[in-house]
Amino acid sequence: MGSLIGRNLLAGAEPDVAADAGYADPPDRMGFFTDTSVCIGCKACEVACKEWNAIPEDGLEFTGMSYDNTQGLGADTWRHVAFIEQDKPMGNAESGIDDSDAPGGGATDMRWLMASDVCKHCTHAACLDVCPTGSLFRTEFGTVVVQEDICNGCGYCVPACPYGVIDQRKDDGRVWKCTLCYDRLGAGQEPACAKACPTDSIQYGPLDELRERAAMRVGQLHDLGVEDARLYGHDPDDGVGGDGAFFLLLDEPEVYGLPPDPVVSTRELPSMWKHAGVAAAALLGGLAAVFAAHGRIGGTR
Ligand code: SF4
Ligand code: SF4
Ligand code: SF4
Repeated sequence: MGSLIGRNLLAGAEPDVAADAGYADPPDRMGFFTDTSVCIGCKACEVACKEWNAIPEDGLEFTGMSYDNTQGLGADTWRHVAFIEQDKPMGNAESGIDDSDAPGGGATDMRWLMASDVCKHCTHAACLDVCPTGSLFRTEFGTVVVQEDICNGCGYCVPACPYGVIDQRKDDGRVWKCTLCYDRLGAGQEPACAKACPTDSIQYGPLDELRERAAMRVGQLHDLGVEDARLYGHDPDDGVGGDGAFFLLLDEPEVYGLPPDPVVSTRELPSMWKHAGVAAAALLGGLAAVFAAHGRIGGTR
């Protein structure tokens, strides 16, 4: 581990997260590559997550808007499969159906995007930076975990997360989110959601390998004419230093409810402290000057 002195660990390009957190000789940084182009919306990941982590049901509300009845990530939904209906053809695929005479003809030019969302296990995790109790911590695998038995429910981490991942349970205010199955990783097993995914849309492994695999997959899709394919959260130089859980999307991030340009919310803290320090020094200097002048005036009376 290099010297931490003079380094801004709250922002910037990807550092060695586990080593910087104090782990000696940590294992490879582990993460997720979620390839939404092969997601079939079966929700096996959501169910496996609930089952393995004994998460209570999350309301079972029927929205009437789509099959997406869990609607988003939350304290009781650590994996969320989004269903997005679009009036767009899928890649360069032809439906082969002539429906031009049908009411609303051309309606087969419709696609359904499905994507399994999760905590991004950010390189620069603002949730972790603001937690006053140490409930949120960085694991030796580079992931971000919350310990519910230490959480005091202060809620500071909720607005700090640039992705809106963290959520409090209504009964006692403690926060819950994906742990990237820390208990399974420690036992050499893959996370429950990845294990349950029947199409390998959720791929788990060393982050470096996943990034290489993802770059190849995007190239493959572009060669097939799926020009909208793009990666999201893979870039170590982005506003959060890259995500430990990144995605292959088939449209703009906003379409999936993801922020287009997330930035770690604690990025400006060092410069804020610096400016506050300069202002305090100027104030103290001014006060000292006033007292000195007052002392001189008092002395001449
Ligand atoms: S996505 Fe949010 S909750 Fe997850 S590590 Fe990043 S800041 Fe924390
Ligand atoms: S709510 Fe819990 S995890 Fe979040 S900042 Fe407060 S103590 Fe930490
Ligand atoms: S890694 Fe584990 S905790 Fe996280 S979403 Fe998958 S099953 Fe749930």
